[in-house]
Amino acid sequence: MLHIGCHLSPSEGLLKMAKTASELGADTFQFFSRNPRGSKAKALDESDAAAMDAYLKEHGFVPVLVHAPYTLNPCAEKPETAQFAELCMRNDLIRCTAMKTPFYNFHPGSHVGQGEQTGVEKTAALLNRILSDETDTTVLIETMSGQGSEIGGTFESVKAIIDRVNLSERVGVCLDTCHVFQAGYDIVNDLDGVLTEFDRVIGLDRLHFLHINDAKFGLGEHKDRHAAIGEGQIGLDAFRRIVNHPALKNLPFCLETPHEKLEEYAAEIALLRGMTE
Ligand code: FE
Ligand code: FE
Ligand code: ZN
Repeated sequence: MLHIGCHLSPSEGLLKMAKTASELGADTFQFFSRNPRGSKAKALDESDAAAMDAYLKEHGFVPVLVHAPYTLNPCAEKPETAQFAELCMRNDLIRCTAMKTPFYNFHPGSHVGQGEQTGVEKTAALLNRILSDETDTTVLIETMSGQGSEIGGTFESVKAIIDRVNLSERVGVCLDTCHVFQAGYDIVNDLDGVLTEFDRVIGLDRLHFLHINDAKFGLGEHKDRHAAIGEGQIGLDAFRRIVNHPALKNLPFCLETPHEKLEEYAAEIALLRGMTE
């Protein structure tokens, strides 16, 4: 069975969010650890977290994904900005451990003129400061589109971060189909080749999650703009191959497509489930 869900809001509570996921036909989902822009976190409601955990176990969910605010820049040049990212991520790992959510996804940051190498080193150093034996969440580096001065836009750049992390068994990768396509990896015409390259550079054992999004712009355009499944440049035939690929089909997939209504996610989940062979 395909493991799939969509991005959801925890604004009405964690248990409520898990129930919503069930209603949409999902068996996984993703949510922001805190306000994605303002980065303020509400205090964790421990009983709600326990109720979500029990619900997920009872209803056969596979792991869910907690996403860091996308405004954080872990490799920022300004010390205050980098320290803020560190503080948020450190607290989020404690929250993830309390929620028993196994994966925490983040964008590795933008070097903004410092150079790729410095960006990689700063992000890895931050991970080395926040990963400890007191939290057991695995941190996932999201593959990025390479927009602007984003790091993580190549498999080599993701690998370079992982290589510098001491507790590297606690670091994995979340592959975003829209981002890799816009970074120039041709998952439409050469999915096998891209995955072979991922395996050669990073190792498929590091891949724990996928973001499944169509792409508004073309291959290698380095523009991070998602489209609904089948309404972008990746297209339905490619998604059929993606959800059935032996290296991917057992992993959790999460939609981050632009929709207004939850029913549209239910329809997309059903569409993708219907493609599995
Ligand atoms: Fe993301
Ligand atoms: Fe994503
Ligand atoms: Zn994106």
